[in-house]
Amino acid sequence: MTPMPLTRLTEDESIFREAVLQFAQAQVAPHVHQMDQDAKIRPELIPQLFEMGLMGVEVPEKFGGAEASFFTAILAIEALATVDPSVSVFVDVQNTLVNNAILNYGSPALQAKYFPKMCSQWVGSYCLSEPSSGSDAFALKTRAEKRGDDWVLNGTKLWITNGAEANLYIVLANVDPSKGYKGITAFIVERDFPGLKVGKKEDKLGIRASSTTEILLEDCVVPAANVLGEVGKGYKIAIETLNEGRIGIGAQMIGLAQGAFDYAMGYMLERQQFGQPIANFQGLEFQYAQVATEIESARLMVYNAARLKDAGLPFVKEAAMAKLYSSQVAERAASMAVEFLGGVGFTKEYPVEKFFRDAKIGKIYEGTSNMQLSTIGKLLRKQYSR
Ligand SMILES: Cc1cc2nc3c(=O)[nH]c(=O)nc-3n(C[C@H](O)[C@H](O)[C@H](O)COP(=O)(O)OP(=O)(O)OC[C@H]3O[C@@H](n4cnc5c(N)ncnc54)[C@H](O)[C@@H]3O)c2cc1C
Repeated sequence: MTPMPLTRLTEDESIFREAVLQFAQAQVAPHVHQMDQDAKIRPELIPQLFEMGLMGVEVPEKFGGAEASFFTAILAIEALATVDPSVSVFVDVQNTLVNNAILNYGSPALQAKYFPKMCSQWVGSYCLSEPSSGSDAFALKTRAEKRGDDWVLNGTKLWITNGAEANLYIVLANVDPSKGYKGITAFIVERDFPGLKVGKKEDKLGIRASSTTEILLEDCVVPAANVLGEVGKGYKIAIETLNEGRIGIGAQMIGLAQGAFDYAMGYMLERQQFGQPIANFQGLEFQYAQVATEIESARLMVYNAARLKDAGLPFVKEAAMAKLYSSQVAERAASMAVEFLGGVGFTKEYPVEKFFRDAKIGKIYEGTSNMQLSTIGKLLRKQYSR
C-alpha cells in the first residue's frame, strides 16, 4: 500500500502514525471483511487498541494515558480509517467525545476514578441523541430527578456508537425542563448502574462493525458525584465536545478516502485494457488527480483545525468546514474508487464498495452537513457584522 503523504508532521508524529498504520494493516485488515459481515468488532481487537495506547491518547500519563496532543489522536483516527472506518470511530468516540469531556469537565475525583479504567479496559459512549431529538439535540426528553444523594434518570437514547461494548456512558439529561437547554446536565453512568440497559442494535448501511444501539434508562440511579461539570451546564459540554469531535470525524473521512484511493491506484496501475494499464488513460488520469487533490486539501483542513485546537485558538468554524468538506471528499473518493475498479469494484470481494458504504455516515453523525453549514453561516455573519 502506498504510504500516506506527509503533511508537515514532526518526527514523533510521523513515527506514531506509521506505527498505527502498521498495526491497522497487520491486525485489523485481515478481519475487516468478516467484521463487516458479522456487524461486530472482533472482541480480540479491543485489548490490542488499549495496548497500543490508542484509547487514552490525551489522558495524562499519571492515569495511564499517553498524554499526547489532540492532533495525535486525529492521526490515529485517520490512520485506522484507511483500513477500517468502524475501528476508527471506535477509537474516535473514546478519545474525542468521552475522554475529552472527562478531561475538560471532570472533577479530579472523577478523573482519578475513571481514567485508569478508560486507558486500560473500559470503552466509552456518548449519549446525546434521542428518537425525537437529533439535529435539535437540546430538545432531548431524558429527565434527571434528584432523590436524596442520587440522580434518577429516565429516557431513551438512540444511535449510540460503541453502545454494545461500552462500560461507561456520558448521558445528557434535563434536570429542569422549565429552564429549557439550561436544565441539561451531563452524567457519567456506568454500565452496571441499576436501570441502564443496552437496547436494540441498528442494522446499518455502513460502518457495520461499529455498534450503534439504543440506551434505555429506567429509573437509573446515578450518584451525585457522577455529575460531569456543573448541573445545568451540560449543553455547554455537549456543544464544546462536539465541536472537537467533528475534527475526529473529518479525520475518519480523510483516512477512509485515502484507503479507497490507495487501493484504486494500485489496481489501475495493474489492470490492463487496450494493451496498457488503465491508469495511463488520460480520462482516468484527470479523475484520479482530481480525487488526490481533494483528499490533500481535506487533510490540510482537518490538520489545521486540530492544530488550532491544540494551540488554544478559535477553531469552531474550521472544524465545521473540515467535517463538511472531508465527508464530501470521502463520498466522492470512495464512489470514484468503485468506478476505477469497474465491475469488481461493485463486489464485496474488493474493499472499495465497503468504503463507499462507510462514507455516507460522515454527512450524518456529529451534526449533519446542513448543521455544519448552519454553524459556518452563523460564524460568518458574526465575523462580517459591524
Ligand atoms: C451510525 C450512527 C452513529 C451515531 N452515533 C451517535 C452517538 O454516539 N451519540 C449520539 O448522541 N448520537 C449519535 N448519532 C446520532 C446522529 O448524531 C444524528 O443521527 C444526527 O445528528 C442527525 O439527527 P437525526 O438522525 O435525528 O436527523 P434529523 O435531525 O431528523 O435530520 C433529518 C434531515 O433534516 C435536516 N435538518 C434538520 N434540521 C434542519 C435545519 N434546521 N436546517 C436544515 N436542515 C435540517 C438534516 O440535515 C437531515 O438531512 C449517530 C447516528 C448514526 C446514524
